Amino acid sequence: MKLLMIAPPGAGKGTQAVVIAKHFGIPHVATGDLLRDHVARDTELGRSVKQYLDRGELVPDEVVLEMVKGALEAAQGGGVLLDGVPRTMDQARALYEIALELDMTADVALHLQVTDDELVRRLLARAEDQARSDDSEDVIRRRLELYYEVTHPILEWYGERGILVTVDAMRPADQVGRQILTALEVMKQMTDGNPDLPRRAVDLTGLGAAFGAATSP
Ligand code: AMP
Repeated sequence: MKLLMIAPPGAGKGTQAVVIAKHFGIPHVATGDLLRDHVARDTELGRSVKQYLDRGELVPDEVVLEMVKGALEAAQGGGVLLDGVPRTMDQARALYEIALELDMTADVALHLQVTDDELVRRLLARAEDQARSDDSEDVIRRRLELYYEVTHPILEWYGERGILVTVDAMRPADQVGRQILTALEVMKQMTDGNPDLPRRAVDLTGLGAAFGAATSP
């Protein structure tokens, strides 16, 4: 299974990515983690991107695309989970071109949906226990702003391609994880061996409410 994840900062993308990658036995490629690792090791690349990360700004496309290309080449022929890329429409288009060449285009673009108030609450809590350089309140606001400005619009594109799956990520992480895995398993069974089936975007955010759970605003 080849997946990518689109979610605002604080939606639980990293947590769910680990669960999904483990479940399907596929490599988890997290651009934020790879970049932070370069910064921590003080590599040349790390020094060139540190300021962007500290300010919550996006690093230049070439840097990220080069990293992702290498990861897709390494995973070629199997599944992969991309976490943190694409972040802009330009990245989405470039990634699609790279993936087409490697026959690694995504089967699913997984979108985690969470309200802004909840995102800020979670990010401030994370700031207390992880001391990430980009978890101060003004940087958090900037990262959210950027998300809506340049990342969120990509969802429409994946919707049109019929690979978008949206889940409600307001609930506790283990419940969100179970819903994601259940949905992905069903899709995998339907698409395995039948990759050319016509596809449509799937919105699972109403599932909880349909079964009596409290709805997220
Ligand atoms: P994340 O861990 O995904 O929240 O990413 C942390 C930071 O890494 C972001 O705020 C950006 O500075 C940088 N970053 C990660 N992925 C990308 C990307 N695809 N494009 C540009 N910058 C990125």
